[in-house]
Amino acid sequence: MKNKRLLEIFLDLAHIDSVSGNEKAVSLYIQNFLTNLRLSPYTDNSQSQTGSNTGNVICKINGGGNLLLSSHMDTARSTAGVKPQLLDDRITSDGTTVLGVDNRAGIAILLAATEHIINDKIETEPYTLVFPVCEETTLFGSRYMEIDREIKMGFVFDSYMNTGKFIASSYGAAGYKVKIKGKASHSGIAPEAGINAIVIAVNALSKIKTGRIDENTNANVGLLKGGSAVNVVPDNVEIEGEIRSVYKEKVLELIEETKEEFEKAAEALGGSVEFVWVWDFMPFKLKDDSLVYQKVKNAITKSGLTPEEKLSAGGSDANSYNGNGIEAVNLGIGAQNPHSNDEFILYEDFENAFKIAIELIKK
Ligand SMILES: [Zn+2]
Repeated sequence: MKNKRLLEIFLDLAHIDSVSGNEKAVSLYIQNFLTNLRLSPYTDNSQSQTGSNTGNVICKINGGGNLLLSSHMDTARSTAGVKPQLLDDRITSDGTTVLGVDNRAGIAILLAATEHIINDKIETEPYTLVFPVCEETTLFGSRYMEIDREIKMGFVFDSYMNTGKFIASSYGAAGYKVKIKGKASHSGIAPEAGINAIVIAVNALSKIKTGRIDENTNANVGLLKGGSAVNVVPDNVEIEGEIRSVYKEKVLELIEETKEEFEKAAEALGGSVEFVWVWDFMPFKLKDDSLVYQKVKNAITKSGLTPEEKLSAGGSDANSYNGNGIEAVNLGIGAQNPHSNDEFILYEDFENAFKIAIELIKK
């Protein structure tokens, strides 16, 4: 790999273990790195929301401006004992642990790019570096990040896809929990005194939509539990499900429909229902004439690659930022086979992602 400094920073980071919720050691490394560049990194107060042992790390360059570059600090699995292998064309682990390339690669890119522009006195737009916690578990770091209202654009360095590809639209997911209350009674002596919560559940489930609803929407019921014994009319059932769609309205519509079916089924038999739901992550779809879309396309082209727009089925910090009113894309950096012991990154993708980062902030 030609970019020795990028590799060096990555290897430093790879040896710091920090699974979701325990990002403090990486957070200190990043803050120390940026302080040595005479920048002023700080952590926000998101801990009460995220439950992490550190806040998100934030660092404004030339005042912070209206755009952010982001890469999460946590890994999905422990990197303790990792032995990075530098092969001809890629970096891997020795196969006994994850490499932690998701997303130590992204952090290394943002730190190396910032060091490069400062040392080589390259003129840049003002920008803000952010390093969120808990991406792999809840996306709460980015969701509850405390950043300036001036920030309107986000560039997330966190897709396993090869460089050149970028995620400009993504599914959102809403999870729901239903508690059905019936009335317990001895099924042999007084069945008519009971209200069967399992029957209510089955009646409702036979009506709600599941599976692939349309090209852009899926729904699933994933958990069901209830009842206590074969001679007792069951008085409780709990059900959990989720709805995914590229369109926010579609999710809201299906949540409402699902809730109504449970309520109708409960009402018909004299039971009751408690229905709660939350956004696990919000969907987004960026317009191709938006500034963030144009900027990412230009940066990729200037780096000598062909920009290619992609749709994502899973969530990333970009979903949180879009949900908070910051138009954000997730860029392919080529950190492949994420979360498995076969994680790797090609030197080519690594260096290209570094070039893209420079192009995004360069004047
Ligand atoms: Zn990641």
